Amino acid sequence: MSEYVKGIGASPGRVVGSAHRVVWDIPRVEHRTIEPAEVADELQSFRGALSLAADGIARLRDGTAEAVGALEANIFEPQLVMLRDPVLIEGTEAYIRDNRLSAARAFDWQMFEIRSQFLDTAHAMVLDRLADLRDVRFRVLSHLLQWEEQAVVAPGDEPYVIVADDLTPSMMVSLDRERVLGLVTAAGSRGSHVAILARSLGVPAVMGVGDELDRIGEGDRLVIDGMAGEVIVEPDVGELARFKADTVLISDRRRRIEELHDQPTLSRDGRRIRLLANLDRPSDAEEARRAGAEGVGLFRTEFLVIAHTTIPAEEEQYEAYRRVVEAFPTSEVVLRTFDLGGDKFPIFLEMPKEENPYLGWRAIRVCLDLPELFSNQLRAAARAARHGDLRILLPMVVSVDEVTRTRDLLSEVSASVAEADQRSIRLGVMVETPAAVETIDLLAPHVDFFSLGTNDLTQYTLATDRGNPRLAHLYDPLHPALIRMYRRLRNTAGECGVPVSVCGALASDPAGVCVLLGLGYDTLSVPVYSLPEVKELIGAISIQELEGMCHDANRCESPGEIRRRLDEYIGDTLAEAGVAR
Ligand code: PEP
Ligand code: MG
Repeated sequence: MSEYVKGIGASPGRVVGSAHRVVWDIPRVEHRTIEPAEVADELQSFRGALSLAADGIARLRDGTAEAVGALEANIFEPQLVMLRDPVLIEGTEAYIRDNRLSAARAFDWQMFEIRSQFLDTAHAMVLDRLADLRDVRFRVLSHLLQWEEQAVVAPGDEPYVIVADDLTPSMMVSLDRERVLGLVTAAGSRGSHVAILARSLGVPAVMGVGDELDRIGEGDRLVIDGMAGEVIVEPDVGELARFKADTVLISDRRRRIEELHDQPTLSRDGRRIRLLANLDRPSDAEEARRAGAEGVGLFRTEFLVIAHTTIPAEEEQYEAYRRVVEAFPTSEVVLRTFDLGGDKFPIFLEMPKEENPYLGWRAIRVCLDLPELFSNQLRAAARAARHGDLRILLPMVVSVDEVTRTRDLLSEVSASVAEADQRSIRLGVMVETPAAVETIDLLAPHVDFFSLGTNDLTQYTLATDRGNPRLAHLYDPLHPALIRMYRRLRNTAGECGVPVSVCGALASDPAGVCVLLGLGYDTLSVPVYSLPEVKELIGAISIQELEGMCHDANRCESPGEIRRRLDEYIGDTLAEAGVAR
């Protein structure tokens, strides 16, 4: 009997192959104390191991640049940054000097502490970096304790699917690409470096299956769907036949979508829509270009602070921002300033314990209270702006005062960068609080653009925590209250002559696309992996028809009613356009 294992579609593609279970772990490090006379030698061994580990990672990075690409090679940069981290180095040295621990034990303790800090934040972006931490830990310890590299190769020469609790980026780039058909892992997410590498290498992957991994045994036959995030264990004849037929349909559709990628986005009735990308890290920029993004509508910058143990240096930020701007030299790159707080706590900040973190010290409030952190970011952005059309977007704004204070700081900072780097930078506000929607006319004279953040606007308007699974049925961005807000925002911003785009998740939900276009929005910013499907959907719909439907949507009493109508419309429209769903 076949079984279904559900996870996250981390790298698209569909394959059939037999499972090879890879079991690996970092061995336990023995507790060993040292004599005072050994301290100097242990300190030296530690420094030596750090430098050998850095050499090894740099070699891997260079090899990856050659074999896979420069952007993928950058995945190893955070590991090199970790090896230079003063918290790691000074902490380990203190354990050696003050607690008389062997270098290996001291380093392992310090890594354990950093890992606990990562886990305490419980933020997806930090958890994504755990595999990098493991890579670094294994690498340094293997130099201190003379361990062998961990191999993930199956015996024999048949192709296989790797089934493991987790892999590290180093393992990913060392995979035997001739034989590895796909991956299934218990840990991991779409944003992890292992997932990014799987996509670049074209290896289908289902990640985050958790304990379900135990349902897969060595040698089991597997069907992997890296798009849907599904694994069939020991498929029957019918499932295999369906798999083959679907694969043909899907690859036809992919080919059609790829043909569209460099053509302008037009609705069926000929309206021009601009499709931009949401980026979570600089390395997404190239993928966004390949997928046909016309620019970047939301560049989240938390990747620079979330898994870091120190405030990121201006230079590091500048390089990261410049990389994205250079990937889009002639179009806008909208950089959002640090959206910290809520569920995103950087390790280096003493975040207060709050009863309601989403209503607490978050986003623009944190930045304005920490001028050193904020000016650093604004200065790096002002310098990167010289390379293209970089704009700045402020999260969670509730008052005009937050915008004017930021503008003053931005002018001050811009005046302090070299004259050649000075540009007048456009400043925008995320409309993600009911206060911002209600005061659009007051905010408008102070900003150059607005960006509608439907994710937070939904939670603040419906008083429903966006991350609470118990309330998931209440959290619906198509609630009538929100549709009325989207309409008012569009109209008022239009009357004030300020452009408004949408960057929340609603912009990539098919029903959401229909509502937003029907309400008059013409610029959507969506995750990179959604670009092709959103573009294809827009090509099939008539905005004129949607305008009529959205007019009626004002009288719908529930999100369910709105969705039902739109789903029906989308089904009919796509069928007419001959698009398989
Ligand atoms: C939003 O709130 O809609 C948004 C795009 O921001 P984030 O999801 O990063 O909070
Ligand atoms: Mg938000």
